[in-house]
Amino acid sequence: MKAIVFEQHGGPEVLKYTEAPEPVVRANEVLVRVKACALNHLDLWVRRGMPNVPIPLPHIPGSDIAGEIAQIGSEVTTVRVGQKVVLAPLVSCGKCAMCVAGLDNRCRQATNLGYFLDGGCAEFVRAPEVNCLPYPENLSWEEAASVPLVFQTAWHMLVARAELQAGEDVLVLGAGSGVGSAAIQIAKFFGARVITTAGSDEKLAKGKELGADFLINHKTQKIRDEVRRITNKRGVDVVFEHVGTATWEDSLASLAPSGRLVTCGNTTGYDAKIDLRFLFSRQLSLLGSYMGVKSELHTVMKLVAAGRLRPIVDRVFPLAEAAAAHAYLEAGSQFGKVVLKV
Ligand SMILES: [Zn+2]
Repeated sequence: MKAIVFEQHGGPEVLKYTEAPEPVVRANEVLVRVKACALNHLDLWVRRGMPNVPIPLPHIPGSDIAGEIAQIGSEVTTVRVGQKVVLAPLVSCGKCAMCVAGLDNRCRQATNLGYFLDGGCAEFVRAPEVNCLPYPENLSWEEAASVPLVFQTAWHMLVARAELQAGEDVLVLGAGSGVGSAAIQIAKFFGARVITTAGSDEKLAKGKELGADFLINHKTQKIRDEVRRITNKRGVDVVFEHVGTATWEDSLASLAPSGRLVTCGNTTGYDAKIDLRFLFSRQLSLLGSYMGVKSELHTVMKLVAAGRLRPIVDRVFPLAEAAAAHAYLEAGSQFGKVVLKV
């Protein structure tokens, strides 16, 4: 089959469009003919390589996959050949205490398609049967592939971790990012008031279309000052973080007393400082969040199919141009998802 493969870590140029062996499915797995694979920042980290994270090489990246079932393993009973599916990215052991409790994102063996396992930047990918999600028929392949990772992550952060309540104020950083565009919609769905940030007025206008109530241009305005102004000096109840070093101090300073900061990433770096006096005297909560659980993704897919949440596709590249798509995502000028069409 044709696939994007890298044999060493590095810049986008290590991604080669080449022949790779077709995956062989196990009894509890399906073979999916990939139609579209959306990119995430995770793809960039995996390609560049991370200290103490031994990605198996050669490697096929790609975590967000939509396609058609081409073959099923001998024990598969819930999907059939020819069925359209979206794949949940997280693959867990399915047997440990966390997995049987439905907390598969806390499984110690959990990984993603395209992370420690070969992913969807290929004509075919294999995945466990339990990772098959119903296909939202109102969406194109490219839109469907744009849903799982960012919506699951944003849902888990806001709903499970930060326990967002109707009427609360939320600061969503990075309206133009995949998780940001998902978080704005989820926060509005739960009846919150949303302040969002972006580096251009064009991106902010799109953030407003998604439902954001207040907009901050982080290139021309200071986030913490604007948040104070918008909230009458109170601050926000929840900060939705994924940017890291570049925004961390503003994020903390934007919290109201008893506010919660929830984070799923660090696209600009992982070094962060905190004034402990501020943490305890204002009774703040810092919440880490990683991916989400499969049941949340089933809920998300239902809301997507009903048109209540919608994935935002910025640009589609052919699979063969994965290197150009990585460089484009790295440049950060997108609004929404960058997707490979297979
Ligand atoms: Zn497990």
